[in-house]
Amino acid sequence: MGEFNILLLPGDGIGPEVTESATQVLDSVAAKFGHSFHYENDLVGGSAIDAYGVPLLESTINTAKKSDAVLFGSVGGPKWDDAEIRPEAAIIGLRKSLGLFANIRPVRVAPGMEDASPVKNDRVRNTDMIIIRELTGGLYYGKPKRRWTNKAGRMAVDSMVYSEREVDRIIRVAFELARGRKKKVTSVDKANVLQVGRMWREIANEIALDYPDVELEHQLADSCAMLLVTKPSDFDVLVTSNMFGDILSDEAAILTASLGMLPSASLAGLPSIGSSGTRKVRGLYEPIHGTAPDIAGSGKANPIGEIVSAAFMLRYSFGMELEAKAIEQSVEGVLAEGLRTADIAGSNESWVTTSEMTAAIVAGVKSI
Ligand code: NAD
Repeated sequence: MGEFNILLLPGDGIGPEVTESATQVLDSVAAKFGHSFHYENDLVGGSAIDAYGVPLLESTINTAKKSDAVLFGSVGGPKWDDAEIRPEAAIIGLRKSLGLFANIRPVRVAPGMEDASPVKNDRVRNTDMIIIRELTGGLYYGKPKRRWTNKAGRMAVDSMVYSEREVDRIIRVAFELARGRKKKVTSVDKANVLQVGRMWREIANEIALDYPDVELEHQLADSCAMLLVTKPSDFDVLVTSNMFGDILSDEAAILTASLGMLPSASLAGLPSIGSSGTRKVRGLYEPIHGTAPDIAGSGKANPIGEIVSAAFMLRYSFGMELEAKAIEQSVEGVLAEGLRTADIAGSNESWVTTSEMTAAIVAGVKSI
C-alpha cells in the first residue's frame, strides 16, 4: 500500500481522451491493490500556449519535480503550427529539467495481432523487445554545432559527444531491465567508424562484468536496422545512442499493429523494478503517438498506448510489478477476445469506442 503523486499533462487533440482512460485504469488498480494515487492536472503544449502564451510554464516544471511521476498525453496540432515556440518544446523542456536520460520503448507484437503488422507473420511472431535510447547527449546536443559559409560554400557541423558517465548510466539501465526479462542486451554502435562507438563498446564490455547472468552482444547500427525487420524476435533489450535510437525505435515501432498501442517511459535513474514503492524513480510516461487531430473528439482514439504507459509508470517509477502486470494482462485479454478500436480493426471487423475499450480494460483489471 502506498501513496503516490502523479502529475497529469494531457496536452492536446486525443491527449486528454487517452489520459482520462489511463486514470480510470489507474483508479481500478488503486482500488484493487489498496494504493492512493493523487493527481494534479496541468496544461501543456498547444492548450498552454492558448492559456498562458507558452507551451510549458516554470510552475509546471516545479510541480513535475515534486511529483513521483508524470503521465503525459501528446501535444501539437495544426492550430499551433505557426506558433513562435512550438507545443513540442514542452516535451524537450520537461526532459531537460527532469534529467530524463533514458528513453524506453517496448516493441511487442501481442499474440493474435500478427496479421496487423506490415511484416510477415512468421517474422514478427513472438517479438518482444525493449529499445533504450540515450536521450540527453550525443549528436543532437554535442558542440560544436553550427553553420557557416566559406569560399567553398555552405558548411555545417554537428558533434557526437559522449562522456563515460553518460554511456555508463544508460548501459546500466539496459542490464537492469534485461535481468527481469530474457537476460540479453544488444548494444548498438558504429564502432567500425566512430570513436564514440569504440568507447561505447568498451564501456559496455566493462559493465557486462558486473552482470554475469546477462548476455551482451554488439551490433553495428546498419546491420541492426536489417535484423530488426528480418529477425525481430531475436532481440530482448537493445540499447543505443540518441540518434541511432531515434531512427531504430521508429523502425521497430512499425513491426506492431498501430501507433496507438505503443507506450514509452523516460527515466532519470535506474528503474525501480520490484522495489514495491520503496524506491521511487522520477519518470515521464507517454504514448509514442501524437495528437491525432484527424480523429480527436470522435471516440476513435485507441487508449492502449497511454494505458500501458501508466502500467510502465507503476513498474519503472513505483516498482509495482504485480499492478503493472494486471494492466498488461487485462489489455492482452481484451485484445484476445477480439475487442478492437477503429485503428486496429480489420476492414470487416466492428470496432469499439475509446470509452468502451477503457471500460473493458477496467473490468479486466477488476477480475484478475
Ligand atoms: P499522430 O501520431 O498524431 O497521427 C498519425 C496517424 O495515426 C493519424 O492517422 C492518427 O489518427 C493515427 N493515430 C495516432 N494515435 C492514435 C491513437 N491513439 N488511436 C488511433 N489512431 C491514432 O502523428 P501526426 O499526425 O504526424 O501528428 C499530429 C500532431 O501530433 C502534430 O502536431 C505532431 O507534431 C504531434 N505529435 C506529438 C507527439 C508528442 O506529443 N509526443 C508525437 C508525435 C506527433
